[in-house]
This record gives sequence, C-alpha cells and structure tokens, in this order.
Amino acid sequence: MTKQNVSGPKSGVNPAMFATAVTKAPLLGSCINDITSKSTFVEMTGGPRIIKSWVDSMRASSPTHDYMSTTLYEDRTSWMVHHPSAVDMFEDITSASKGKKIVMFLDYDGTLSPIVDDPDQAFMSDAMRGTVKNLARYFPTAIVSGRCRDKVYNFVQLAELYYAGSHGMDIEGPSKGSKYYKKGAQTVLFQPANEFLPMINKVYKELLDKTKSAEGVIVENNKFCVSVHFRCVDDKKWGELAQEVRSVLKEYPKLILSQGRKVLEIRPIIKWDKGKAIEFLLQSLGYAKCDDVFPIYIGDDRTDEDAFKVLSKRGQGLGILVSKVPKDTHASYSLQEPCEVMKFLQRLVEWKRLSLRRRSKIQKQLEEIKTSLKY
Ligand SMILES: [Mg+2]
Repeated sequence: MTKQNVSGPKSGVNPAMFATAVTKAPLLGSCINDITSKSTFVEMTGGPRIIKSWVDSMRASSPTHDYMSTTLYEDRTSWMVHHPSAVDMFEDITSASKGKKIVMFLDYDGTLSPIVDDPDQAFMSDAMRGTVKNLARYFPTAIVSGRCRDKVYNFVQLAELYYAGSHGMDIEGPSKGSKYYKKGAQTVLFQPANEFLPMINKVYKELLDKTKSAEGVIVENNKFCVSVHFRCVDDKKWGELAQEVRSVLKEYPKLILSQGRKVLEIRPIIKWDKGKAIEFLLQSLGYAKCDDVFPIYIGDDRTDEDAFKVLSKRGQGLGILVSKVPKDTHASYSLQEPCEVMKFLQRLVEWKRLSLRRRSKIQKQLEEIKTSLKY
C-alpha cells in the first residue's frame, strides 16, 4: 500500500497582521530577485548526474549508523581537535564572551528536538522547553528553523522568544507580555518572500500529486518553502524520487532547491537564508554595529552553515554544530545531540545566574563600605 504523508502549515496566523506590520531590513539591502549563495543550494539543470549529486549529498549529510561507525568515525578524533565539545570548552566560551552581551540562536529539529520519522511528531521534551525558557530569562533568544513559523511556535510554545521560520523568511519578535517585548515599538516582523506565497502553494500541490506513488514520502508545506522528506523512503528509491521533484521544479525558475538531512527543500530564489535572518535579528536588537555582542548559534544541518559563516565573517560569537559525525562546517565547536545541547544551555544559565549573584553581592558590599565611611 502506498503511503504519502501530507504536512501543511497550521492555522493561527492572521494574514492581515502581516499586511500592516511587515518591516524591511534597511541596512541589508534588496534581496528579492537576487540569486542566492550557491553554498547550500543545488543546480536545477542537468541530467542523471545532477540527481546522483543531490542524492549523494543528502546521504553525506544524513549518514547511516554503519557508515558512521566505520569511515567517518575513524576521523572523529582529529575532527574534534578542530571542533571541540562546547561542553568541554565551556570556560573558554564564557571567557571569550566576557563583557559582551550574549544573544542565542537555536535551530529546532535535531538541535532542540530529536530527528524523527514523522516531522509532525518532532516534539521537544519538557526539560528542554524549561531550559530554553530559563535561557530566555537571561539572554535574548531566537529559534531559527526551516519549518513554518507557526508550526515551530506550536512545538516550542514560549512567547518570550524570537521566531524565524521558513529558513528565516518569516520573522516575528516576542509576544506582548515577554520581557523583550517593547511597548509602543513596531513588532519585529519580516517576510522577504511574501510575493512567492501563491507560487509556493502551487508547487506544493504539484509535488503532492507528482510524488503520491512514492511510498513513505512526506511533503511538508512550510509556508515560504516546501520540504520533501526522504526519511521513510527506501534509499534505493531516492534517485527516482529526486527525479520527480526535479521534474516539477524545472517549471519554476524562480524557485531553488537545497538538500539537508534526508530532505530536499524548495524555496524562492532570493538572497535570504538563516545567516541573513540572524543579521536582521541582531540589527533589530540594536547590535548591528556593536563590538560588545556575542551571538551563539547552535544547529545541525547544512542550512545552519549560512549562520555559522555570518558569525565567522563578523568575527563575533561562535557557531556550534550538533553532530555525532565529522562534517565540513564553519562552526567552531560541536555537540553530539540535543541532550548535550540542553546540558550546554543549562550550564550557560547557571553561569549567568552565578555571575549576577556575585555582582549583586559585590555591589551590596561596596554600598556597606560607603555607608560605614560616612559615619
Ligand atoms: Mg536542524
């Protein structure tokens, strides 16, 4: 029996709100109709060789256990020298952030939640949610995901965070009531690919139809991009499925394709990605040209490399790749899986809490000295 899963954006987003509240990123320049960076994208033209290249690239970023335990695992020790564990190097990281304002950027799937067969079941644990909630009490925190914004919000359910969905093409600031919500300020909201919405919906329907005979495929509408998940598809059929995707996409020259962990993603051909999204958010937070900001980005996928590159180029903060296996990355540090991410975030919260307590104690002592000198 053929199984095809459909996953669409959940309701709850008010389109009228976007029409009135969308803001532009004035310092980032025009992005519409500008061909995006090729680094995480694949060519749409070409024959079987291109299809094989897509499939090989997806396999490389989604290694199986057997592959992991042989070829790549042997390289792990040398790779860890260049990308040490962020937990092991915690003191070095906090020392580098001294005197600077830490801003946290977190990918969702594979970073805060485990990778699961059904993307609709990628729930984060209550412990992780509590950790992220604590994190946001001390640092501005944003979730940057390929998912549509309302879907990732439904998973995380924390109003105090910034959310950048659809690979940063759909950004919203914290809700009213959170400590980062500024009364009277314009809501941070940015949708650089708004004009592509009808096209994305059309291609989503065509992909559903075209791939309906492929067993296990999941086509997910992420509002400003569409994901075709290969996770439950027999890997002998990956080439065939990639060919079906290509046959739909070749009719849409304004859309481009990228690949991630067992997923092909279709998105508008604009110069906008997770890297641009974090630049926009830093600018919105007032840190566009500040030397005293220390952004930390944690992610597990190829699309997160755009964010790692931005931090590396700015010479500010650091990137942490979540991976059990060595990968080419612009991140400086690594963590193996979401439970290690949680451990790192918990230590960050504890470190900040102790720093504030120590500072408060010193201030109190100084005040006591001042008072005693008066008499
Ligand atoms: Mg991810």
